[in-house]
Amino acid sequence: MQAQGFLHKMQAWLEQDQVQYQLNWDVPLHVNALIGQKVRFVVTGKKQCIGCGRSINKTFQQGYCYPCVISKAACDLCIVRPERCHFHLGTCREPEWGEQHCMQRHIVYLANASGLKVGITRKENIPSRFIDQGAVQALPLFEVTSRYHSGLIEVLLAQHLSDKTNWRKMLQGQPERLDLKRHAVEIKALLAPQLESLVRQYAIECTEWTGPVLEFSFPVRRYPAKIVSYSLDRSSLIEDELLGVKGQYCLFEQGVLNLRAFSGYEVQIFNE
Ligand SMILES: [Zn+2]
Repeated sequence: MQAQGFLHKMQAWLEQDQVQYQLNWDVPLHVNALIGQKVRFVVTGKKQCIGCGRSINKTFQQGYCYPCVISKAACDLCIVRPERCHFHLGTCREPEWGEQHCMQRHIVYLANASGLKVGITRKENIPSRFIDQGAVQALPLFEVTSRYHSGLIEVLLAQHLSDKTNWRKMLQGQPERLDLKRHAVEIKALLAPQLESLVRQYAIECTEWTGPVLEFSFPVRRYPAKIVSYSLDRSSLIEDELLGVKGQYCLFEQGVLNLRAFSGYEVQIFNE
């Protein structure tokens, strides 16, 4: 088998709680099908901006050309710091994009990828956002009407909870299971007065989520003994057994590859 294309975030979905991954190339590649096999990743040397498609020599911010980095709303600082969204000030780099991506329903959630953390996502990105982070459990807490408002609530919760995933830990094995419902009750009780005043101050339309804890099972046969990162900048060939996929990482016997970090790199993938 041989597949070829420019790397990008794998599409992920659930089939009976089991996560499925696919690279949507001209001929789509179902990555789960390669698990348990010796796989060869060959870097062709071509790179393409994931924003505008132009050929480039170097990518920035996981796949973009420099002009896109300084002009696209998707590359603005507020994407990693949603509480700094400036759409309401009329200064969004691409108001139409902001309208579609940021001025939409968002949720604030608890997840467990490497321990308890708080995060936000556009409602439409449930459950792929949880899968991208390698979360084995997730529980939405609140639903609000914009990215900005979800960011304000996240900052409040992050005073008591982590807002980061420890990717090494996430790739070392299954995290200890958590009682997310109990954590949700605790954090809501702890922050009730602050949350109430935040909601009032910013006129946040905030509804509590009542759904169940979501659970994800990743296609990993076995975890690597040691976490070493493969880099497609340092080597143009990876030849190794694929043990599994978790988050946006391919887990090989000798190293892990963060596919998303090499978005825009053209590769050929062979198996035996
Ligand atoms: Zn570009």
